[in-house]
Amino acid sequence: MIKTMKALVKVRPEQGLWLQDVPIPEIKYNEVLIKISRTAICGTDVHIYNWDKWAQQTIPVPMHIGHEFVGTIEQVGSHVTDFKPGDLVSGEGHLVCGHCRNCLAGRRHLCNDTRGVGVNRPGAFAQYIAIPVTNVWYCDENISLDILSCFDPLGNATHTALSFDILGEDVLITGAGPIGCMAAAIAKHSGARHIVVTDVNPYRLSLAQNLGATLTVDVSCDTVEDAQKTLGMKEGFDVAMEMSGNPAALDTILDNMCHGGKIALLGIMPDRTPIDWNKVVFNMLTIKGIYGREMYETWYKMTSMIQSGLDISSLITHRFHYTEFEKGFEMMRSGQSGKVILDWNQKE
Ligand code: NAD
Ligand code: ZN
Repeated sequence: MIKTMKALVKVRPEQGLWLQDVPIPEIKYNEVLIKISRTAICGTDVHIYNWDKWAQQTIPVPMHIGHEFVGTIEQVGSHVTDFKPGDLVSGEGHLVCGHCRNCLAGRRHLCNDTRGVGVNRPGAFAQYIAIPVTNVWYCDENISLDILSCFDPLGNATHTALSFDILGEDVLITGAGPIGCMAAAIAKHSGARHIVVTDVNPYRLSLAQNLGATLTVDVSCDTVEDAQKTLGMKEGFDVAMEMSGNPAALDTILDNMCHGGKIALLGIMPDRTPIDWNKVVFNMLTIKGIYGREMYETWYKMTSMIQSGLDISSLITHRFHYTEFEKGFEMMRSGQSGKVILDWNQKE
């Protein structure tokens, strides 16, 4: 049997990724080997590609990256009884420690010591990946492979969007990147009244519009205050989701919340971003930080939402074979894309 596979490797500490042969991972007793069929490119992968400061401080070199995937079980470890070869699966990219207080209490998403697939350990941009069986998610075969490969970011959007009650509420989403667009679709599916999405990129705002935004606002020329007037809103948004990582967007949120409003923060802000705490205090706002996905309530919810009609397929704008990964990264880097999918099956 051939013991090597193709993978997208950060070979050197500089911009770029390289398609190389690496050993197929060997599985431990509690792990499964997954044959990858599709992967999706995340903003994090673009940071690693660009080799920015965060990537330089975080990513071991050489290592192959990637964490958004779907595939089939190829082989299971000796202690794995719940999965068998051929099962269609995706995987939770956060590996938890299993013995901190939160893990022991079953609150695994709050683990004290998570490790990230494709960030702290080898990733999914490869023909195979090995992960612990506790991180494997059994997929509904009626959902398309492209959508299943996006379950990791869809999980970020789901975790954020379902953090607060949004039925009949007015929702503000800052940032129409892939996750902001998914959150708009979830808010619509969940019965929000008005869903206002902001960005500075018209292409992305049009994606958000297609996915369920009531109104989109290009904050480089329009304001959310005006959007409220257009919609006949008088007291501000009930729920906000920060999904841009831009401090200006957080200011926009604070200026447009109703008293007692709820804010979920997913976007990663620059270190020590200032915020107007008096608005938080006097307007009695609740702020919740969101990281990753709840294990596995989020996975369950996103599966059932898709089964009951949540449609994010228009967000997938580009598809490439893995050998054309450079084109995929180029699209992501241009900002003129939604989700970009790489196909890992052999070319016919
Ligand atoms: P992305 O970078 O593709 O999208 C961010 C969008 O924000 C872009 O379209 C950008 O044009 C827009 N933007 C920039 N300035 C803005 C402003 N002033 N107002 C409104 N929009 C503005 O990111 P993504 O992949 O969709 O992820 C969203 C955010 O969530 C990022 O900050 C990402 O780092 C973060 N993230 C966090 C987690 C977590 O677990 N907390 C997981 C994944 C991603
Ligand atoms: Zn833990």
